[in-house]
Amino acid sequence: MAAKNGAVVLHVEDARKDLKVGEVTVNALRGVSLSVTRGEFVAIVGPSGSGKSTLLGLIGGLDTPTSGQVMIDGVDITRLSERALTRIRNEKIGFVFQQFNLIPTLSALENVALPVQFSRSNQFDGAKRAKELLTRFGMGDRIHHRPAQLSGGQQQRVAIARALANNPPLLLADEPTGNLDSESTDVVMTALRDIQRDFDTTVIIVTHDTAIAASVDRVITLIDGHIASDADPRVSAQLDEVKILREKRATGELPLVQVDKR
Ligand code: ADP
Ligand code: MG
Repeated sequence: MAAKNGAVVLHVEDARKDLKVGEVTVNALRGVSLSVTRGEFVAIVGPSGSGKSTLLGLIGGLDTPTSGQVMIDGVDITRLSERALTRIRNEKIGFVFQQFNLIPTLSALENVALPVQFSRSNQFDGAKRAKELLTRFGMGDRIHHRPAQLSGGQQQRVAIARALANNPPLLLADEPTGNLDSESTDVVMTALRDIQRDFDTTVIIVTHDTAIAASVDRVITLIDGHIASDADPRVSAQLDEVKILREKRATGELPLVQVDKR
């Protein structure tokens, strides 16, 4: 059942991930907890190697934590059988990768229809749904093209359509604009915002792009496997402004405003 607006779609509780490379253990995540509600648009930022992809992979059920929980719509996906997890991934989670990961031998339409064909819900007709989504993203005249016949921005739009094929409540994207020029980046970001608005989809995007991070509801900063901050960037920007004003007043650079007492 789809969560209602404001309902918690994702809850991560003290997730840790240790990765062993030879003799060395990397603590990729050192206890991450967060909750995300229906319809939120969240950016995960942080330096390279801070654990962003590891966290997104755990949320998407592509990997399991060393300890901790990942709850999607109230179900702890770290304890599911492979079969049950596959079903949740198919129905509740859309995943978009930096490298698009489309199947090269299939057309755009076939790529997008694939998750619908694997779905057990029979909610949509695969080809019809694929055509609708591709048309929505301005790809209606490219449905029979194969990935190699499409530009990067077009391939990413196909990948987003594929991620949305079964209308999942949660869309995850790991640097989806990392391989795109600024024009394609705008097209892809507009598509993600439209989806969030129209279907109340929760979108979580890993990005290096500060302009993207400044435009979302919430920015989670990871540093060294920890959440260093978690805030609404617009509120943070306001707080920064207040801080600057206070400093200017303290140094006398900005006179205090005299309130007229009458
Ligand atoms: P980010 O996406 O923020 O750049 P990652 O989540 O990819 O960071 O990586 C976090 C840490 O885990 C890094 O130190 C990285 O080197 C390490 N790491 C990532 N994947 C693996 C892996 N498959 N095996 C071993 N170490 C890994
Ligand atoms: Mg990464």
